[in-house]
Amino acid sequence: MIEKSSVIRIECPVCGHRLMDKGREAYGTVQAKCGKCRRVWTVDLGLDEFNLVSGKAIPRREGAGE
Ligand SMILES: [Zn+2]
Repeated sequence: MIEKSSVIRIECPVCGHRLMDKGREAYGTVQAKCGKCRRVWTVDLGLDEFNLVSGKAIPRREGAGE
């Protein structure tokens, strides 16, 4: 049986579409475009931190009353 647990799935924080897989020891920043919602992200692989580069802003819950 192949050990797959060292690969972590990176998903789009908005729609959950898979952006890429990373190894456990991955670090640094990569840019990835979501194939589903078309947003472009920079992802800090070490921190699992997402920053939106282009595309619609992350939708807030309706009824926030702005
Ligand atoms: Zn997406």
